[in-house]
Amino acid sequence: MKLTGNLLIGAHDVPASEGTMKALNPATNQWLDTDFALGGAAQVHQAAILADEAFDSYSHTSLSQRAAFLESIADNLEAVRSPLAERAALETGLPQAQLEGEVGRAATQFRQFAQVVRKGRFLQLAIDPAQPERQPRPRMDHRLQKIALGPVAIFGASNFPISYSVAGGDTASALAAGATVILKAHNAHPGASEIQARAIQKAVHDHGLHEGVFSMVRGSGNAIGEALVDHPLIKAVTFTGSEHGGMALYRRAQQRPDPIPVFTEMTSINPTFILPAALAERGAPIGDGFIERMLVNVGQACLRPALLIAIEGPGLQALREAMVKRVSEAPARTMLTPGIHASYLKGLAALEAAGAHRIAQGSSARADFDGQSALLEVSGHRLLGEAVLSQEVFGPSALLVTVEDDAQCLAVARSLNGQLSATLHLEEQDLPLARRLLPVLERRTGRIVVNAFAHPQEVTHATVHGGPFPATSDSRFTSVGMTSIERFLRPVAYQGFPQALLPEALRDFNPLQLPRSVDGQ
Ligand code: NAP
Repeated sequence: MKLTGNLLIGAHDVPASEGTMKALNPATNQWLDTDFALGGAAQVHQAAILADEAFDSYSHTSLSQRAAFLESIADNLEAVRSPLAERAALETGLPQAQLEGEVGRAATQFRQFAQVVRKGRFLQLAIDPAQPERQPRPRMDHRLQKIALGPVAIFGASNFPISYSVAGGDTASALAAGATVILKAHNAHPGASEIQARAIQKAVHDHGLHEGVFSMVRGSGNAIGEALVDHPLIKAVTFTGSEHGGMALYRRAQQRPDPIPVFTEMTSINPTFILPAALAERGAPIGDGFIERMLVNVGQACLRPALLIAIEGPGLQALREAMVKRVSEAPARTMLTPGIHASYLKGLAALEAAGAHRIAQGSSARADFDGQSALLEVSGHRLLGEAVLSQEVFGPSALLVTVEDDAQCLAVARSLNGQLSATLHLEEQDLPLARRLLPVLERRTGRIVVNAFAHPQEVTHATVHGGPFPATSDSRFTSVGMTSIERFLRPVAYQGFPQALLPEALRDFNPLQLPRSVDGQ
């Protein structure tokens, strides 16, 4: 597929204003062909003006029009499935077959959000009719609906170059909410970003929407991201990446004259607790399954289980041996970027310096950015004294923590930072300890999984992909799943309105046949 390398601002191909860059093939450490344009504050301004101009018409599209638009994006993505996956594979080192699956997931998300839009529940329509006879004071007619916040800036993630990137869940949920989008492409996969952006741009055109509904910018260094967060027409930001980057952008947004919400998803080690009866009964298969899931995406997944806590007792040795075996057999595989590879090595060294022992490692790296998998072990006592041992090391490594008893297990749980997920492996006899752990984990995680591992591909109405800081900057929201749309919405109340002036969804007789609460019922 021919790439131009241009920025896509509305309907326009915009050439470089700040030089160009090339994509790196991390598997070969060779630069790929195309020159990709880099832009700056001027291009952000151009995109923001367009996004603002498009907002009123786009946010007032009918629900069926908007749903059809989202479905077209899904169709357009599927139409480029192979070239998109092929390009993403070259730019990330991830297997093409896996990336084809990611295209499917991205398309499915757009279709799922089309259904959410059609059903209209996200509008949270509420009508509290006037009570003119009420004493001592009559009540006015109150009607509420949710509207989109305005143009939003979305930072594409590096680790899932499609389903968390240009055509990822952030873009799907923002467009579903009625927000216009400026996407900051991740420089690790510029070609895959262009292909996705064109699929969205084509749907904007085919549906006769204002060109400013979607733009994609790219820049070098922090300047372009900062310009986006600072731009007065941008009304919210989403980000997936490092805690350092996420918090820099979050703080910047709070220092604007008009602070705006920034929804960052940053870091999580997804602790897994294996309780005594489960350890005795199923230690080996749990250890094997844990490492299998840890290795997904070369350990570069937000839900990667990285910390396994086991209480000393029967089954511990079988668990350890199964983990050692699986890690020892794992081939070294290409990591996403030289920077992520370097951070991985640095993170492993920090764990070892803090007292963790390497008990297994996978086959050696054959190429510059191959990540060699590693299994480390440490006592619960040591973990409790060294905060660095519970920091994320993004890559194919895991830490086995052996604790002395239930009390130390609970102490380790209490010592953990906010997480995206926690997992409990348990049998019937483990329920009393599980009941003690549960409130500790509820306060620290967005999801708790029993006798399985959280799966990043599951996108449902009840999915929560969020959690207390530092997993995210706002634990009230999820970044994956159907309720992620709520990040981009705010309520507006209409009081004393004549029928003809009310939004259609709030008129008497419910012309759109949408779910509404009336007087709280
Ligand atoms: P990153 O360095 O945080 O960058 C993410 C995006 O934000 C990039 O587009 C980057 O732009 C931009 N950015 C970062 N800091 C910025 C700042 N101060 N001002 C303006 N823009 C900024 O993340 P990454 O490159 O994807 O990976 C680095 C590390 O992030 C990994 O090693 C890992 O620890 C973590 N990570 C975690 C997850 C997770 O799911 N938990 C996912 C991905 C990454 P530029 O590229 O142009 O600098």
